[in-house]
Order: sequence, then C-alpha cells, then structure tokens
Amino acid sequence: MADDVNRPPANFIQDLIERDLAEGLNDGRVHTRFPPEPNGYLHIGHAKAVILNYGLAVRNGGLFNLRFDDTNPAAEEEEFVTSIIDDVKWLGADWGDRLFFASDYFEPIYAFSVQLIEKGKAYACDLSQEEMRSHRGTLTQPGRDSPYRNRSVKENLDLLERMRAGEFLEGSRTLRAKIDMASSNMNLRDPVLYRILYAPHHRTGDRWCIYPMYDYAHPLCDALEGITHSVCTLEYADHRPLYDWVLDSVECPALSGARGRPRQIEFARLNMSHTMMSKRKLRRLVEGRHVNGWDDPRLPTIAGLRRRGYPPEAIRSFCEQIGVARNDSVVDLAFLEHCAREDLNRRAPRAMAVLRPLRVTVINYPQDQVEWMQVENNPEDPAAGTRRVPFCRDLYIEQEDFLETPPARFFRLAPGREVRLKGAYIIKCDSVVKDDTTGTIRELHCTFDPASRSGESTDGRKVKATVHWVSARHAVPATVRLYDNLFLAANPEAVPEGQDFTANLSPHSLEVLTACQLEPSLAEATPGSRYQFLRQAYFHADPVDCREGRLVFNRIVSLRDTWAKVQGSQLLG
Ligand code: ATP
Ligand code: MG
Repeated sequence: MADDVNRPPANFIQDLIERDLAEGLNDGRVHTRFPPEPNGYLHIGHAKAVILNYGLAVRNGGLFNLRFDDTNPAAEEEEFVTSIIDDVKWLGADWGDRLFFASDYFEPIYAFSVQLIEKGKAYACDLSQEEMRSHRGTLTQPGRDSPYRNRSVKENLDLLERMRAGEFLEGSRTLRAKIDMASSNMNLRDPVLYRILYAPHHRTGDRWCIYPMYDYAHPLCDALEGITHSVCTLEYADHRPLYDWVLDSVECPALSGARGRPRQIEFARLNMSHTMMSKRKLRRLVEGRHVNGWDDPRLPTIAGLRRRGYPPEAIRSFCEQIGVARNDSVVDLAFLEHCAREDLNRRAPRAMAVLRPLRVTVINYPQDQVEWMQVENNPEDPAAGTRRVPFCRDLYIEQEDFLETPPARFFRLAPGREVRLKGAYIIKCDSVVKDDTTGTIRELHCTFDPASRSGESTDGRKVKATVHWVSARHAVPATVRLYDNLFLAANPEAVPEGQDFTANLSPHSLEVLTACQLEPSLAEATPGSRYQFLRQAYFHADPVDCREGRLVFNRIVSLRDTWAKVQGSQLLG
C-alpha cells in the first residue's frame, strides 16, 4: 500500500489532514487507529475502515494503531480478539508494536472521572434506566435535570469510589457527565460515563465492576495514544460534540503542549447488495446454522472471504476504488467480484478440471500410449511458464460439453461432430454408449485426428469449440464447492410483513460436487493456493479441508464479469 503507483486518489479526509499539516497542528504528526469492538468477526465494511485508516497513516508518513474497544464485557470474547488480529494482519495493515486495548486504560480513565467530578462536571446519579429515559426528553422536548445532579463534589467522589469497590447493585447507579439536559443534541443530555456491571472481563477479569461507556472512553483512548485523526462512520457525527466535550473537560499531558488534539472525522459506511453486515445478523446466520461458522465462504466476513479464496490484494483494491464519501450508498457485490477477477486473472495459474465428468474413449488411440502435452500456465503472464498434461485413450470431458441433440448455435460435441481438446487433438464423436436399463449416457466413443495435435497441425483446420478435459487414468479426484450469493434479493432486508431477512436466503448458495476429476498436477496443490479452472471459474484449495491427500476447492468467482456487464448496460442505458 505504500507503493506510489497504486496510490488511491485523494479523498476528503486526506484533504482535511493536509490542511491540518499545513497549519502545523500536532507537530506535523499523523496518527490513525482502527478501533474494533471484539463482539464479532470483522466484515468487508470493517476492511474499508482498516484500509482507509492504515492508508492515511502510510500516505502521510504517520502511524497506525490497532485498538480494541473492549468496554462492554457482556458481549466480548477472546475468540473475537484473536480473529480480528488475524484479519487485520491478513488485510496488510501494520500496527507495529501498537496493539492496544481500551481496558489497558481503565485506570487513567477512572482518574479522569475523578477530575471531572472535582471540576463539577460529573455526578453520581441514582436514577434507574427507566427513570433516566423518562427524564431524557425527546427530540422536540428538553429533558429534566436528575434530582441527583447537584450532589457535592465530596459526595460524588465517595459514591464513585464505592461504585468501584462493588458496594452497589448492578444498574443502581451511574456516573454521568453534567452538560445540558436541554441541549438539542440528545447525546449532550448528561450522558452516562460509567455503569456498574458485574461481568468478568476477558482481560481484566473481575478487577472492575464499573465500565466506561464507549463515548467517554473513546476520545480518552485516542488522546492517550496521541491519535491525531479519529476516523469513524457517519452515525457518530451526532456524538462528535460529546467527543470534543470530553477532551475539553479533562487535563491530560497528551493534550497540552503542542497545538492540536484528536479530531473526529466521519465517513459513510460501506453497504453492499446481496449481503448484510450487521454483526447481530451475521451472528444469527452463524448461530442459526444457516451457514457453517463465521468463516463460511458465503459470508462477507473477512474470515469468510479469505476462506473462499479472495486475495487480500483484491480486497484492498476494492476498498480503494469505492472511495470515501460523506453520504451513504450501496455498492454492488458484483464490483467486489470484479476486483477479485482482475487480480486473479493476472496471477492465478490455469488448470484443467472436469467438474461433472463424462467418460470418453478415444477408440483409435493406442491402448498403452501416453503423450505429455505442453500447456501454458497463464496466458496473461509469460513468466508463468508451461506444464505437461498427460493424454491417453481414456478421458473425461464436462457433461455439458456434449449434447445428443444439439440446438442451433451449440458448437461443442455432438454425435458426428468435432471439437478440439485444449492443448491436444481434435476428436470426433462416433457413438454414444448408454446404460441398457436406464438409458442414461455412460460414455462416448470418439476418434482422434493424429494430424491435429495442438501447435503441430499443418492443415490449418479449425473447429468451432475447444473444451477442457483430463486423462481418466491420471486424474485426481476432488470435491468442489460452488458458492453463490447467500441472498436472492439485492436488499436482503426487504421482506414481506412478519418475515425477516432469513426469508431471502438463497437455496442455491452452495452446491457440492463430489465426483470431480482434476489434472494430475493439482495433486500437489498447496492448501490456500488459487487457480483458474479453464472455462469455469477461479478456485481456492480450501486451507482447512485439503488434508491427508484430500482435495477440496472453493469457487471464488466465475469467469464472467457481471460487473463489466452492469457498467456496459449503464453506459448504453
Ligand atoms: P457494532 O454495532 O457492534 O458497534 P460495528 O460494525 O460498528 O458494530 P465496531 O467494532 O464498532 O463494529 O467497528 C469498528 C470500526 O469499523 C468503527 O470505527 C466503525 O465505524 C467501522 N465500521 C463498521 N462497519 C463499517 C462499514 N460497514 N463500513 C465502514 N466502516 C465500518
Ligand atoms: Mg461500533
């Protein structure tokens, strides 16, 4: 990403940063962070935030932190911490030695609360959640002051200390900011800073029974880490005055001295068609077993995209090309696939794989002969070289490349017709062998033309179609999983009254083919490697299921670029 050639176009955040730099703010430093809450797996939307924040740091010679916002032990788990670290690393963002946790700062955050009380800017409040809600007012009506708002500093300090010591019941008290119950911004109506929660924390155990709220902890963590530009999604725009209030109200060495301090900047979150990114709903899909775990290749999770076989370069390219805006939009899933295709077309070696085999016997080819045919590994990349594939009398071709009664415009194999076998000979179908009882096609008897060997034929004879094939004697068996969109509708949330998004799940999102036959070179495919299976799609040797000699491939994307088609029709339209 540091590569200038691939540098994405500037965006409005970069413009703001340049302005800050020109004004000499923050001593010329740029420092960003990605602040996930460890309550689920990261998805492609988070990838956008990671790549944006990391990209801004790299572009401006700055630093990037990974910081877990682990302020709510009720929802957070170590499993999510581990997966998020793996995912951010896999995406290529480098946080150096700056991996932090909001829980690292529980002590200083507590100390800031003492400061706020001493300055008369925070108070212990005994209202229940219910009562607090009724005091809060509405968008059109101001709220009412809490009866506890004017407690003395001494009493507040005592109560906060006892909250921490575990003297009070969960939910019985909070620490609140004293701002303005009549503010037109609801976030400023004396927001809660601390709540009592008797939940063990995955890092601090039971050391704490009060936990700071996100809106309070976040600006403080930013300040403590020297973050200069705190980039987040649009829903936080209304929280920005509170972010600034917190930073204005505390005394912190990191905030004094140099001019400048963390500045919150919002951008539009990524939404995509045919999928969903709410962590809660992704969790429902996983827990309801609609998919096979968080890394199911149909999910938009980073773990799922990685398992499916998306290269990280493709995801970075996608995130850079969709840009950064201040208004919400929906990106077509086909565009992500397009980015994968562009990357894979350049890099993925080609191979021949017959997914639904049909046996072919070349009856005029010598019984024991084997010829090794030289074929290109990647026509897009001359450096990729060639490999040899065996040809013999017993072959497999794709069932769909043969039709007994072909319609007009079907140019592949049919009785009496010819096709070229990729990299080998032209064959002609002489007869169809059927099962006596069921009448289904068992195999084809073909003859080959010895003068038609690929690259050597001198008669210039052309046939209309070239098909892929494998030698039945040398082929290696494999399972191939064909993945498709998880949801039928572009907007999975659009459902009739009384139904939920699961009603839109596609019944065709996964097809498993267990009788596939691959060219023998694929026996050596390393788990995690990617190929183009000629004429079919890009595939990924599943990193989990390829073991003990078993081959399992996941379809990443088909070869046909539906995005290019969409673009084309828009241009025409
Ligand atoms: P939650 O509802 O649990 O808060 P979240 O998706 O906001 O879910 P976080 O872990 O808080 O999850 O997100 C970490 C960061 O990723 C935040 O800065 C958030 O703004 C950003 N982010 C989350 N979803 C998207 C998205 N769809 N597009 C871009 N950025 C996103
Ligand atoms: Mg969030």
